[in-house]
Amino acid sequence: MSTPRIEVDLSKIRHNTKTVVERLKTRGISVTGVTKAVCGHPAIAKAMLGGGTLGLADARLSNVQRLRTAGLTSPITLIRTPLLSQANEVVQLCEASYNTEPVVIAALADAAIRENTTHGIILMVEMGDLREGILPENLATIARHVMNMPGVALKGIGSNFACLSGIAPNASKMAALCDLATETEGACGPFLKTVSGGGSASLPWALGGQSTGRINDLRLGEAILLGVDPVTGDQIGGLYKDAFTLVAEVIETDTKPVFPPANFVDPVLVRLRLVPNSGYTTRLLLAIGHQDTDVSGLSMPSGHSFVGATSDHLIICTNRSPLPVGTEMRFQINYSALMHAMAAPDIETKLLSDRSPKLLRNIQGTSQDLALV
Ligand SMILES: *Cc1c(COP(=O)(O)O)cnc(C)c1O
Repeated sequence: MSTPRIEVDLSKIRHNTKTVVERLKTRGISVTGVTKAVCGHPAIAKAMLGGGTLGLADARLSNVQRLRTAGLTSPITLIRTPLLSQANEVVQLCEASYNTEPVVIAALADAAIRENTTHGIILMVEMGDLREGILPENLATIARHVMNMPGVALKGIGSNFACLSGIAPNASKMAALCDLATETEGACGPFLKTVSGGGSASLPWALGGQSTGRINDLRLGEAILLGVDPVTGDQIGGLYKDAFTLVAEVIETDTKPVFPPANFVDPVLVRLRLVPNSGYTTRLLLAIGHQDTDVSGLSMPSGHSFVGATSDHLIICTNRSPLPVGTEMRFQINYSALMHAMAAPDIETKLLSDRSPKLLRNIQGTSQDLALV
């Protein structure tokens, strides 16, 4: 099998999705599966749908195109505000999109009229993350504007948390978003179908026990793909952290000083070398580097430490007996490493066969290398 590759266990993604979907259902919240970290990979999207997501969402039109080309017909929402230059394609490929700019909404409306369709608009409201969004005081005006525009239909409002700021949403932010939904309805009439409370960072709030109010949708990527809370990095109970495994091959194994004698010019590189200078040790060179993934997002197998990386090499040291050249090493990865690896042309994606949920349950009971908590 070729390396480097990323192995994807579709049954674990389906399990993670189903578990979260069922928990959120009791709170009146449905899940939209976000495929951007896997570049709109159709089989992974199908695993999300199989786990019970209501629809799919992606930030890039190229990923949506990939899903449509593969024959997926479920609703797909564009969650990054559409590029003005792509209005036609957005209307052709997506049922709805998140929007913040009246000029873009007008272009979508024109395109929808030309296509003889109606495009759904969800207005993204800025609630403190300071990435995208309409300021709450401007929401009613823009909502009324959308209401009066043929070709588009106001479907809802949503917000985004913890993306730029890293700050998780709290109950008062969510209550404010619910109030805005009601105020928008008061100002311009229609019932808002969707009140979307954010991404994986909003899960602890949604499952936290307090009222979830009018929030009826979360857009989830990281939580169902990697089983972790993006704010804390902690594993979410009952979910697998290891649906994805990055596999790279050893191309050199030798004994060298951990630190080369030369002075480092770049202080960042010095800090990245986490290994104490313990003299000579066994080093492994692997055929993967910055061009393939975010190497700082790889979890080192036990007994191995990260030394450094360049564009095409990863250097690891170990206190174990050296692995021979040609050995495959397996790494668990974080969101950033996943996102980069899925987009890297030299990394092959290998899908592990989609086992039935029953079989997966059996495996949970027997295998020790599962990270199920
Ligand atoms: C990426 C993204 C999401 C999903 O975020 P996760 O942390 O992966 O759940 C949701 N909404 C928007 C607008 C996004 O850009």
